[in-house]
Amino acid sequence: IRDLIRWLPESVIELYEALGIDELYPPQAEAIERGLLDGRNMIISVPTAAGKTLLAELAMLRGALSGKRSLYIVPLRALASEKFESFSRFSKLGLRVGISTGDFEKRDERLGRNDIIIATSEKADSLIRNGASWVRRIGVLVVDEIHLLDSANRGPTLEMTMTKLMHLNPEMQVIGLSATIANGREIADWIKGEIVSSDWRPVRLREGVLLEDRLVFPDGEIQLENRNRDPVLNLVLDTVDQGGQMLIFESTRRNAESMAKKVSGALQESGETIELAERLSGEGKTAKKLAMCLRHGAAFHHAGLLPEQRRLIELGFRQNVVKVIACTPTLAAGLNLPARRVLIRSYKRYEAGLGTRPIPVMEYRQMAGRAGRPGLDPYGESLIMARSESELQKLMDHYVMGEPEDIWSKLASERALRTHVLATIASRFADSVDSLSRLMASTFYARQQDPSYLGETIASVLEFLVRSDMIDKDLTPTPLGALVSRLYIDPLSAMVMIQEIRGIRRPTVLTLLHVITMTPDMELLFVQQSDNWLEDFISEHSSELGNEKNFDWLLREVKTASMLMDWINEVHEDRIEDRYSISPGDLVRIAETAEWLMSALHRISKHMDLGVTYLAERLALRIHYGAGDELLQLLELKGIGRVRARKLYQAGYRSLEDLKAADKSTLSEILGPKIAEGVISQLKEPGVSA
Ligand code: ADP
Repeated sequence: IRDLIRWLPESVIELYEALGIDELYPPQAEAIERGLLDGRNMIISVPTAAGKTLLAELAMLRGALSGKRSLYIVPLRALASEKFESFSRFSKLGLRVGISTGDFEKRDERLGRNDIIIATSEKADSLIRNGASWVRRIGVLVVDEIHLLDSANRGPTLEMTMTKLMHLNPEMQVIGLSATIANGREIADWIKGEIVSSDWRPVRLREGVLLEDRLVFPDGEIQLENRNRDPVLNLVLDTVDQGGQMLIFESTRRNAESMAKKVSGALQESGETIELAERLSGEGKTAKKLAMCLRHGAAFHHAGLLPEQRRLIELGFRQNVVKVIACTPTLAAGLNLPARRVLIRSYKRYEAGLGTRPIPVMEYRQMAGRAGRPGLDPYGESLIMARSESELQKLMDHYVMGEPEDIWSKLASERALRTHVLATIASRFADSVDSLSRLMASTFYARQQDPSYLGETIASVLEFLVRSDMIDKDLTPTPLGALVSRLYIDPLSAMVMIQEIRGIRRPTVLTLLHVITMTPDMELLFVQQSDNWLEDFISEHSSELGNEKNFDWLLREVKTASMLMDWINEVHEDRIEDRYSISPGDLVRIAETAEWLMSALHRISKHMDLGVTYLAERLALRIHYGAGDELLQLLELKGIGRVRARKLYQAGYRSLEDLKAADKSTLSEILGPKIAEGVISQLKEPGVSA
C-alpha cells in the first residue's frame, strides 16, 4: 500500500498501517487503477466491509492536499456522527472536519471552513436551499449508500441534491458507494464515471437456508444438535458454543422483542452481562424488557429505542458481552456490527398500501452481508428461515442464488416534486420553465425512465404552487414560497397550516397541535382497540380541532396530538409510553418532528398574520423541553430539565431573578450540590440577567 499512497504524509501512512492495512483489497486496487485518485467519477458497488470507506478517505485526502473541499453525504444522522469520529483522526494532518445534522434553516457559512464536511442528504439539500456559499466550491463529493436513490422516501432528495451539486460544481469528482446492485453501470453513466463492481469480500460468506434443524447450503448441509425444541434456539446455542455471535433479523419490532426475550431464556447470566444491564438508562416498559434481555447477553434493537440505549447495545455486542441481537432491518442499513452468524427469520415485510410482500434481494444481501467479522471469523454464515421443503427451494433460488434488483429513481412522485420544484425555483436554480426542464433533464430519472411522465407531474406541481401563492406564473418565488422552501417543509404542509388556522375561530394549544399532525410531514401513531377513549375526546374538543374529513385519519391525528399534549404537560415518559403503546425512541422522534413543524407554523403565522405567532413560538419551546409555559425561563439554564425546573418552581423559584436571590444551600438541597453550583455560575454570566 505504501507505493500507492506515497503522496500521503508519513503520519497518515502509519495510521493506516496501524489499522492493519498493508495491502489493498482487490476491488480497492481496481478502483485506484481506474483512476479514483486521479479525479475520475466512480460508482463502487461492492459488498459490506470490502473497504469502500478507505477509498473514499483516500480520494478526499488526495483532494484536501490540493486544497479541495470534500462533502460526504450519509443517509442517517447516526452514521454522520460515526463518520465524523472516524474522519477526525485526519486532524493530525491539519485537516478540519465538520459535521452538519442540526437545524434545517441555518445557512452554516462556518461549515465551509472545513476541508471535509459530513452531512445527511436532507441537510445537504437544505444547505443548498439556504444559500450557503461554499456548496459552490466542492472538489470531491462522496455519496455513501447511493443505492438509496431507489428509496421512495429519501431517494428523491438524494437525487436532487446530487443533481444540483453537480450542476454547481462541474469539475467536482463524484464518488458513489453502494451495496451490490444490478444496474450500477446506469448510475455510473449518469455521473459520467467508471464502475467498479465486485462480489469480493474480506471474509468468506456461506449463504444457506434454515429448515428446522438443518442448515442447507448450496454445496451440502449440516444437522444441528437437537437440544431445544425450537430450531432458532438450537442455532443460537450452536453459535454461542463456538464462541460466535448472532444477529436475528425480524420483520417487526414486536417480533424482535419477543425473540430477544426467548433467546435470553436460553443464555446464561455473567458478571459482565449484569454490569451491562445496569448501565442501561430509562425506567419505562421498554427499558425494563431490554434490561432483562441484556442480563443474559441478548438484546433487541429497533427504531423505538433511545440513541443511548442503542449505543449501549452496540458497544456490548462489539465487546462480545451481548451474544445475540434480534433486530428490525434498520440495523442492516449502514451500522457496522458484523456477527459470526446471521439469521433472517422473516423475508416478508408489511408495506402500507401494498400488504405483505417479500423483501428485495438487495435487502436480503445487506442483511446476509453482516455475517463474518474481518480478522476474527474464519467465515460468516447467513441463513434465511424456511417453513417447508418447498419454501426452502424457493428461498434458495430466489435469494441465495438470486441476483439483486435494479435501482429505480423515485423522483417522479408528486410529493417529492412538490417540495423539490419549489426549492429549485426558490433558490433561483431555475427561473423559467426552460431552465427547470433543463435541470430536471439532468436527473437520474430522466436518464433512466420516460421523461414525459416527469414532465406531466412537474406541470401539475407548478399549477399547485401557483394556486397556493408560492410562485408566480413566471416562476418567481413569492416571499411565502421562499419561506416554505427555507423551512424545509412540504408546501402542502404549509397550505394545511394556513387553511386550518384560518378556519378556526379561537385556536387553542390543542388546535395548533392537531394542525401540525394534519400535515403530510408528521409521523402519526397507530390506533388500537384500547384507544376507544379517542372518540369521547374528539366530541368533547370538536370546536378546537382542525377540519379533518377522514375519520380514520382524525383518530390517528388526535391520538398523536394528545400524546404531544401529555408531553408538554409534563406527564412522565413512562406513562406516555404505556398510554400510547409506544417506545421511548418514538416519543423523542415524534417530538422532534413536532417541534420543527411548530416552529414552521410560528414563522408562517408571522408572515401571513395568522394570529397564532406567539402561541406557536411558545409551543415549539414547550415541545422542545416537554414542559409547561411557566418553566420556560428556568429551562434556559444548562443542567436544568423539565423535572428539576418543576422542583424549583414548586419551591417558589419561578424566574432567573428569583434564582439569583436564592442562597446556595437551599439550591443545593433542591438540585444537589453539583447542579446547583453549575446554575449559580451560569447566573453570574453577563446576559443571563434579561
Ligand atoms: P465498507 O465501507 O465497504 O463497508 P469499510 O471501509 O468500513 O467497509 O471497511 C471495513 C473494515 O475493513 C474497516 O475496519 C477497515 O479498516 C478494514 N479495511 C479496509 N481496507 C482494508 C485493507 N486493504 N486491508 C485490511 N483492512 C482493511
